[in-house]
Amino acid sequence: MATPTLTIDLDAIATNWRLLDAASPPSTQTAAVVKANGYGLDAGRVAVTLANAGARRFFVAVAEEGVAVRQALGPGPEVAIFSGHMEGDTDLIRDYRMTPMLNSVEQLTRHVEAMRDHPFGIQLDSGMNRLGMEPAEWAAVRDIVLPLEPRLLMSHLACADDPGHPHNQTQLKTFQDMTDGTGVKRSLSATGGILLGPNFHFDLTRPGIGLYGGEPFVEAHPVVALSLPVVQCRDLEPGEAVGYGCTWIAGRPSRIATVAAGYADGLIRSMSGKATLYAGVTPCKLAGRVSMDLLTVDITHLPEDPAYLDLLGSMQTVDQVADAAGTIGYEILTSLGDRYQRHYTGAGA
Ligand SMILES: *Cc1c(COP(=O)(O)O)cnc(C)c1O
Repeated sequence: MATPTLTIDLDAIATNWRLLDAASPPSTQTAAVVKANGYGLDAGRVAVTLANAGARRFFVAVAEEGVAVRQALGPGPEVAIFSGHMEGDTDLIRDYRMTPMLNSVEQLTRHVEAMRDHPFGIQLDSGMNRLGMEPAEWAAVRDIVLPLEPRLLMSHLACADDPGHPHNQTQLKTFQDMTDGTGVKRSLSATGGILLGPNFHFDLTRPGIGLYGGEPFVEAHPVVALSLPVVQCRDLEPGEAVGYGCTWIAGRPSRIATVAAGYADGLIRSMSGKATLYAGVTPCKLAGRVSMDLLTVDITHLPEDPAYLDLLGSMQTVDQVADAAGTIGYEILTSLGDRYQRHYTGAGA
């Protein structure tokens, strides 16, 4: 079989949630962000695993994503939507009992007109300029909104992965100015913000990437392992080239393994010539360009041909692969494609 195996450790996701939960005081609730199909790992399975670990609040990006999460979780936990209440969302929000985080006066009006008694939160812009009401907009409506008892006032940090960045303090101050004295539960931090310390915790945190083993949560347990079957091995004479564009040229007698995954599987082409795979614990460099379905790897130094080469796992994290490709772990994780044999391990599997 030439299908690579993507192993997803649900217990590690639960462990990472517990570690992030323990990073803030017990009075701070720890939610779980399961948008983009649980960062590509199956939102339903991840949500059930985390509900069993104790999570009671889940966030998705758009209403459509919330359906699978609600179906997996059953009626108890809250399923909240970052993009709020968009036109056309009312039925989904009602039928699947989701909680939109309203981003604008327009959304607020839509929500109140369509479903006045249905729970909602408010998203505020504290300086990222992406989603949420701006300070002046909020000031204009807050006295109308607060009696409607929003479940949450939230905002999002732009630079939380860089603890020394001055914008973190600026956003903290803006968020406090916008929400102090409201008596409503507040949330400012995702994974990076949790690690910035107690001033950033408020009543609820919203970790995503850290649950799935990614930076900036460097203590995260690894969640994904990706093992690629070797389809063929061959010897090259010095001067022979490998792959599209002949970008890799053997400088010595070489042996090349061809493995079955490529950019169609989310192993993005920009890792060409840069990524490292592992035969057990021995690193092997990618030789030449990533193709759609195949990678070519220099295994000259191995004593024998491997049956598999590993890209992700105990030897290498999504962030290390991301570094080689000039991107971030989030993108590697959410790009992992549909063609893998997905194997779930742990209590929720
Ligand atoms: C994606 C997202 C999160 C989770 O962020 P991580 O960096 O993955 O922990 C939290 N809040 C909002 C608004 C988001 O868009």
